[in-house]
Amino acid sequence: MSRLVMKFGGTSVADLERIRRVARLVAAEKAAGHDVAVVVSAMAGKTNELVAWTDGAGPAGAGLTPSDDEYDVVVASGEQVTAGLLAMTLRNMGLNARSWMGWQIPIIADDAHGRARIDDIPPEKLAAAMDSGEIAVIAGFQGVTRDGRIATLGRGGSDTSAVAIAAAVGGACDIYTDVDGVYTTDPRIESKARKLAKVSYEEMLEMASLGAKVLQTRSVELAMAYHVPVRVLSSFVEPGEAPGPGFEHLGTIVCDEEEIVEKRIVSGVAYSRDEAKISLFGLPDHPGVSSSIFGALADANVNVDMIVQSHARTADTANMEFTVGKRDAARAVEIVRTVQKEVGFDDVQVNEDVAKVSVIGVGMRSHAGVAKSMFSALAEKGVNIQVISTSEIKISVLIDAAYTELAVRALHAAYELDQL
Ligand code: ADP
Ligand code: ASP
Ligand code: MG
Repeated sequence: MSRLVMKFGGTSVADLERIRRVARLVAAEKAAGHDVAVVVSAMAGKTNELVAWTDGAGPAGAGLTPSDDEYDVVVASGEQVTAGLLAMTLRNMGLNARSWMGWQIPIIADDAHGRARIDDIPPEKLAAAMDSGEIAVIAGFQGVTRDGRIATLGRGGSDTSAVAIAAAVGGACDIYTDVDGVYTTDPRIESKARKLAKVSYEEMLEMASLGAKVLQTRSVELAMAYHVPVRVLSSFVEPGEAPGPGFEHLGTIVCDEEEIVEKRIVSGVAYSRDEAKISLFGLPDHPGVSSSIFGALADANVNVDMIVQSHARTADTANMEFTVGKRDAARAVEIVRTVQKEVGFDDVQVNEDVAKVSVIGVGMRSHAGVAKSMFSALAEKGVNIQVISTSEIKISVLIDAAYTELAVRALHAAYELDQL
């Protein structure tokens, strides 16, 4: 029989009524003949509440360091509750089910607490349970380090738990959430966004890493590496029911590029408000400057994203701007200040009122003019571009955060994504 991993996010298990609906969806897949494992998130809002408690109790959350193992003990607890509740509900329906915590499987993770990566999932115990007909209900988001401590996989990490488990037991992965698939952009921002029937792993990877939180980036990386078939579906339906008039309950299939017949130049627009821009003024213009600055940031594990350097008006000096995640901004400034004397720049400033808006599409590889359309659409709306970065299949711009929604909608229209 085929193995299927079904994952349900926070809004899908937000209360007992929704958990009962999840149980009906699981029961339907079981009845259809699959060996089923289910991965659950914490109830909507729970993880935020737990994170807030750790902020109050100690210096975790904002400035996570590798020693924040107790942060993980707290924030992993939300998933334990929903796993137990769903297993109980399934049993009440007469089904054979039990809950599994990360350490019981075990899902072995590294010790980068708060953002750990899965190292290994020995599949034997789980596969045996599934093969025996039992529905395995697994707490998402959590793993166990090699020395036995709980580790969490970063926000949104239950997606990664689900895909990794599907890869380990050799099954497909269905991600059930509060939208019925992957859209051309966040449907909460642009009501004209269209559902994509299929999206390539590569495009999904860019969309996720550029802010589309419907799938955690790492989950897409794993799906791509292990060829896990992934679907994104709505959990707000009864088994067999269509999520809305004119829709089939099919969601979006994330697959290899070759499986997509209809080729588009741009497939989606993503945005991220989790950005901060650091500006350095009056840098000496000679070799080694960037290396000192970014070396110090890398040593402190601060991830730098966009970078731009320009000549200052004074001869032989330059200005530089780069972006980091908001939660790293204060630390990045501190680190840059530690090399200020050695490098010899005048001033450093930070701006957190910025957002990154990106257009993504594999068709960009072979089509010119995509950037031009982006820049003119933004110019028409009076949106100023502060930093630009590109890769083979995406273009990102940093703009004033106040214009995020305007920019997303303007770009969605410019590439005619509402007409897919
Ligand atoms: P879950 O709790 O099920 O994990 P998330 O909130 O993490 O759900 O992800 C689903 C949300 O992702 C949607 O409600 C939607 O607002 C957002 N989202 C952002 N970009 C997209 C996109 N391109 N397609 C679909 N949803 C998107
Ligand atoms: N509950 C965790 C979070 O809110 C993990 C997840 O939902 O995927 O980030
Ligand atoms: Mg999520």
